[in-house]
Amino acid sequence: MAGETILIVEDNRINRRLLDAVLSPHGYRLLIAVDGEQALDMARAERPDLILMDMQLPVLSGYEATRRLKSDPATRHIFIVAITAHAMEDERLQVMQAGCDAYISKPFDTRAFPGQIRAFLARQEGSHDPN
Ligand code: MN
Repeated sequence: MAGETILIVEDNRINRRLLDAVLSPHGYRLLIAVDGEQALDMARAERPDLILMDMQLPVLSGYEATRRLKSDPATRHIFIVAITAHAMEDERLQVMQAGCDAYISKPFDTRAFPGQIRAFLARQEGSHDPN
């Protein structure tokens, strides 16, 4: 389904442009945050359906931003996909412990990416509270 809101949290301009270019053709409403603090502000104000969260961020890390969003009843339902630089097993554990719902590692497989996002959004819709 098109029209869902996705918040892209990424401090690297090249990666931001890449994510925007890959997702724009699919009709999503895309929001951008460039650090962890801005991610919290935008998530609280806009209540996106999904957040693509870079873990290495200035001001406030993606780990800390995720912990705060997942401990707040107003935002904890938001599906958070960790974007990390390595597919290391211990890092995977760390992002899951922080509360991320899923995990994608860089570099992106840009052909597979839209399908992955669609699948995550379908899971997020299925887990909505009835109210
Ligand atoms: Mn980063």
